[in-house]
Amino acid sequence: MNFKSNSRRKDRLLKDQRKDAYLDQFSTRESSVCAKCNAVYTNGRWTWKTSEQTTTRTTCPACRRISDNYPAGYIEIKGNFFVQHSNDILNLVNNVERQEKSDRPLERIIAIQESKSKTVITTTGIHIARRIGEALSRSYQGTFDFQYADGEKSIRVFWERE
Ligand SMILES: [Zn+2]
Repeated sequence: MNFKSNSRRKDRLLKDQRKDAYLDQFSTRESSVCAKCNAVYTNGRWTWKTSEQTTTRTTCPACRRISDNYPAGYIEIKGNFFVQHSNDILNLVNNVERQEKSDRPLERIIAIQESKSKTVITTTGIHIARRIGEALSRSYQGTFDFQYADGEKSIRVFWERE
């Protein structure tokens, strides 16, 4: 993605500052558990391990992105094929989320917004966004593309089929 215009650049500076806060906060932190989703931070990574005896409460980066509505991934879906098969396609999307989320607690869907011209799915992580695009392309062909931005801290995925 080419964020060249002035407004975009300003937007990006703002986002970079905020983005650091999402992960750096945890770089040296002791084990902790997210009070919202129960993801556990231990040994430098997030898991769903519930056996961990962790008393420190926090809010994980994914829950913070969700409450701030600040996505790392955008998936743009266009074309008549989606309109005709939206139930099946959204089932596939939700299945991909279930798989991703079980391995990587920070990879989640934030929102699915359908409008007349397109459907936009926002995600907390870049990995899940790419996986959803790949799954759509594998299952339904069509046109699939993606572009990283912000030094690969965010991603835009495009999928279209008429
Ligand atoms: Zn959480």
